[in-house]
Amino acid sequence: MKIDSELCSGCGRCIPYCPVGAIKKRDVGAFPTAVIDQGECVECGVCIRSGVCKSEAIYLPETPWPRSIRAAFSGGGFSFGRGHFSGEGISFERGRSPTRSFSRILNKIGLPRLTMTDIVEKRVGGGSRGTSEMKTNDVTGRFRDGEVGIACELGRPGIGFYFRDLETVAVAMVKCGVQFEPQNPVTVFLDTSTGRIKDDFAEIRGERALSAIIECKAPMEKVGEIYRVLQEVAEEIDTVFTLDIINKCQDGTIPLKPLLDDAGIRVRINGKTNVGLGRPLIP
Ligand code: SF4
Ligand code: SF4
Repeated sequence: MKIDSELCSGCGRCIPYCPVGAIKKRDVGAFPTAVIDQGECVECGVCIRSGVCKSEAIYLPETPWPRSIRAAFSGGGFSFGRGHFSGEGISFERGRSPTRSFSRILNKIGLPRLTMTDIVEKRVGGGSRGTSEMKTNDVTGRFRDGEVGIACELGRPGIGFYFRDLETVAVAMVKCGVQFEPQNPVTVFLDTSTGRIKDDFAEIRGERALSAIIECKAPMEKVGEIYRVLQEVAEEIDTVFTLDIINKCQDGTIPLKPLLDDAGIRVRINGKTNVGLGRPLIP
């Protein structure tokens, strides 16, 4: 995202909208203006979507690969009051015309080239951070008795993450014998035998985004080891992550709980119950 200094009045109203603090005030000549730090910006689109800029100075320049991956993992879809962008193109509500900022986007960047085309070509998700398997295990049966599902959620608003940090965590996890979830958008660009980013995607290591989820499963007895490895790797990376562990209940108990207790892992148990709207795919 960028700000047109010719239009920006330097009012600063957009600054608090940025979740990673990428918008800063600068004096350009005698006049104050806002600028977006291109290294920090994760292309989430919040600043432009908010409509806070009355000068319509915020615009999206052409965003080629690999920078386009930032939007994919930062919720960077674009929706305007009078027009909607999707990977398929742009549509406007009947009888409405585009706002000036929307026209600027159309004219200056060629919206179909925005990001999603590149992302689809590279087969990196579709603007999603993860899959739904973990929340719908009663239907998918992905995690069986004796297994645990593990999700490692890197980054958060205010911090974000670099893909090189994601790789560091994935490499550590694979050494514990985890199996990556094949449908997850992160798995698409990882070598699942090493956890390293595939050579085809090497250029994303220096890119950053708001958050991404590494999803995998492992034998239940591996949880203690995975936890220790993740504690070590947490010291090596420049962001935060949250660890989710999924375990099938049996007869009202959580089989994993004694192992977690032994490993010194304090848990806060969250549950999601599907009410039978989905037909189980498993016996
Ligand atoms: S809201 Fe618009 S005019 Fe005000 S500082 Fe931000 S970009 Fe500039
Ligand atoms: S696109 Fe998102 S990260 Fe970039 S400047 Fe706007 S609000 Fe900040």
